[in-house]
Amino acid sequence: MSIKLILVINCGSSSLKFAIINPINKKTLLSGIAEYFNDIKAYIKWRIDNSEEKFFLTKKSSHGIALNFLANKILIMYPELFENIIAIGHRIVHGGEKFTQSVIITDNVMKGIKKASIFAPLHNPIQLIGIKEAIKSFPHLRKKQIAVFDTSFHQTIPKESYLYGLPLYFYKKYKIRRYGAHGTSHKYVSKEGSKLLNKSIDNFNCITCHLGNGSSVTAICNGKSIDTSMGLTPLEGLIMGTRCGDIDPAIIFYMNKKLKMNINLIENTLTNKSGMLGLTNITSDFRYIENNYLKNKNIENAVKIFVHRLSKYIASYTILMNNKLDAIIFTGGIGENSILIRELTIKKLKILGMNINKKLNINIKHGKTGLINNNNSIPILVIPTNEELLIAQDTFILINN
Ligand code: AMP
Repeated sequence: MSIKLILVINCGSSSLKFAIINPINKKTLLSGIAEYFNDIKAYIKWRIDNSEEKFFLTKKSSHGIALNFLANKILIMYPELFENIIAIGHRIVHGGEKFTQSVIITDNVMKGIKKASIFAPLHNPIQLIGIKEAIKSFPHLRKKQIAVFDTSFHQTIPKESYLYGLPLYFYKKYKIRRYGAHGTSHKYVSKEGSKLLNKSIDNFNCITCHLGNGSSVTAICNGKSIDTSMGLTPLEGLIMGTRCGDIDPAIIFYMNKKLKMNINLIENTLTNKSGMLGLTNITSDFRYIENNYLKNKNIENAVKIFVHRLSKYIASYTILMNNKLDAIIFTGGIGENSILIRELTIKKLKILGMNINKKLNINIKHGKTGLINNNNSIPILVIPTNEELLIAQDTFILINN
């Protein structure tokens, strides 16, 4: 019997990640990235059977050139993979209100993705290019392309969470509301968490913390997202690597009127110069931050601000849990690895029945999964995220239906 494989494609502004996954046994057989498009540094590298290959691309490289290289140079070397790819799953950042679940890509779906670009102008247009280029490079899979949206998991959140305190017509006419992000990751770790704790996902309540360069917290009841910290865009919520998270909107008026900053400069400041980078004045990299905590006053303060905001979000989400919280789950580069952030955050939540076990906390990092709580605590889990696997599984289910 032949195996059935899924090619997963994730297009960023100047990069393209790819993976070939067996959705049944959950194994990644090949994975890689092409980076630095339109730059002399451009390259494509891939990993298979524990060995890594790298090839420099031309200066005029692009998503199309990378996909063509994948189809016609890399996969030619591995016909046993190429011949068994039955579909392509694309990560799409924003699905607006239209897409509440993953879908097979049609012309209408492409139009919908284009329409939602207004809320993700850096991502959706590039991901549409990724779809068109994938059709060119894999023409036999033209009708086997699936879109998996970062926002769709959060389409279950109720009005009281997704509406802002703005005149209603901004929502009715312009669809300005909370959409959230990282949905694929929150969904994946909540499902894995329910399995680890032997509970049915339909009866599983948890708070998931995806902490990486971008960070968000989600309240999940009976397996469904009911609130999340990112908003119309991924700028709202927690303190992030370079994004400010929640601020008083009047700061923007002050920057504009008093400091004479124009709207592009304000946007760039809030998106790329703020968060941990802005507060430490050194870096957004939590490895450096963790190694230098208590050695540098700005770093110490930035960590305290990060933890303060994160613990406030977790605490506030506990009241949405219908009196039953089954687990707190940490994931993302920081959630999976930062012993310091996990310890400081959980210590603040003692009053809510959370208690960290220092030894377990120290041991769980670098891709390990496990509990980090004491016996007298609500379960606190660390689960490495695997958005690619969830995209492959959704793609497989849709193609089989
Ligand atoms: P992500 O966006 O999920 O890839 O996460 C990136 C963030 O995770 C960066 O701030 C990294 O510094 C942080 N990170 C990765 N590995 C570690 C580690 N071993 N300890 C602390 N932070 C880490």
